[in-house]
Amino acid sequence: MSIREECGVFGVLSEKPMDVAGISYYGLYALQHRGQESCGIVVGEDGLFFSHKDLGLVNEVFTKDILQQFPKGTMAVGHVRYGTTGATNRNNCQPIEVNHQKGRMALAHNGNLCNAEVLRNELELNGAIFHSTSDTETIAYIITKERLKTNSIEEALSRAMNVLEGAYSLVLMSPQKLICARDPYGFRPLCFGRRADGAYVVASESCALQAVGANFIRDVEPGEILVFSRDGMVSRREHCGTKKKHLCIFEYIYFSRPDSVIDGISVHKARLRAGEILAKTYPTEADIVIGVPDSGLDAALGYSQASGIPYGIGLIKNKYIGRTFISPGQDARIDQVKIKLSAVEESVKGKRVIMIDDSIVRGTTSGRIVKLLRDAGAKEIHVRISAPPFLHPCYYGTDIDSEDHLIACHHSETEICQMIGADSLGYLPMESLRELSGNCYYCNACFSGAYPTEIPKDTGKNRFEQKLSEIHKINGEERSSKHENL
Ligand code: SF4
Repeated sequence: MSIREECGVFGVLSEKPMDVAGISYYGLYALQHRGQESCGIVVGEDGLFFSHKDLGLVNEVFTKDILQQFPKGTMAVGHVRYGTTGATNRNNCQPIEVNHQKGRMALAHNGNLCNAEVLRNELELNGAIFHSTSDTETIAYIITKERLKTNSIEEALSRAMNVLEGAYSLVLMSPQKLICARDPYGFRPLCFGRRADGAYVVASESCALQAVGANFIRDVEPGEILVFSRDGMVSRREHCGTKKKHLCIFEYIYFSRPDSVIDGISVHKARLRAGEILAKTYPTEADIVIGVPDSGLDAALGYSQASGIPYGIGLIKNKYIGRTFISPGQDARIDQVKIKLSAVEESVKGKRVIMIDDSIVRGTTSGRIVKLLRDAGAKEIHVRISAPPFLHPCYYGTDIDSEDHLIACHHSETEICQMIGADSLGYLPMESLRELSGNCYYCNACFSGAYPTEIPKDTGKNRFEQKLSEIHKINGEERSSKHENL
């Protein structure tokens, strides 16, 4: 419930100039669940780029006036951001734009590099000056450096992929081409499709293709580079198969939208399956099965179908809570969970309730939801979690960044059950995860500790800000590391 997802990327290329900014707007709107801190669109037309980026939700940043200021174009790249590295400030908004001797580039990135600090140090020692604190600028620098030595942007990207380590799904735009790439592990999803008017569309999730009227063609393969231009599409596969695929299993459990299909598996069906497994693993007598909105709902339905216990709506989410929600101050000490969720008394009063949620991180939110249900009159509350316990941090683009914050690292299941005030607690067994991914290889490192890459030394979300802060301290400056325009 309190893990936040990383980012969403989008791209479009058409033969003739059209409203590619409008198409990107709808695509980003469909990907809003992947990031609510900031968003941006860069439109390309005849070698020129036109961009707008800002902090806020897609419909806040892209007003009608702003969208009308974009010219028609043949290409666009878009991004929604939840920063897993780098502070929330305008400098970290994407897509990143770079001008270089051979042209220009706009880049949107989803994921986290494991070797970002090493690469950035090397670049800085060679004179590079960074404007943001996100990994994406490091990627942009390396591609640009290679572009100056190669004949094409796709060759430069391929060379950059030799040194990038970690999670990255990229969409980038040069004056003539739209290019996308997925890291060789395939940590983050990426797919593409085509509209009836012939425009190619690339997106983090298939739900965004549907939103802009594009037919899904296929997922981008781990390690694959796809180059779209007026001449059609070319696939480069020199990085395919160089690593074992490790799609983030949490994309199915929580991050992605249930109407998306990732690597051939429906997210909705994967969640139903998780619910079925929970029902078989923890058969429990109860009157109603409810899900914690949104990602617990599908698993609750699966639990209900497998157990025969009726499915019901026991919790309602305030749909209008977004990034802009702020605590009004000390005098209004209202439990924020109560602002986001409320219990449906008519559903749960006097009942034995099975409550399905996607995860327990610190335990505080789960405890508050259990209390909401108790206050609404639930007689028993049996909590079932559609993932195994979090025991390790994630280095691939989520904000699970410290074992100190993970309740399962410090307490047994019995203790956690007592701490959250539930009558019983059950997690999805580790060995069941493969059933969610269609028996493919997947990353489960936050549950198992089996990392497919080397673990980065400095992993904090604001690691580059911390470094800058140290430099300022050494220089005797009192500058805040959270200053908006470093
Ligand atoms: Fe996903 Fe966990 Fe792997 Fe991170 S560590 S990529 S959250 S499965």
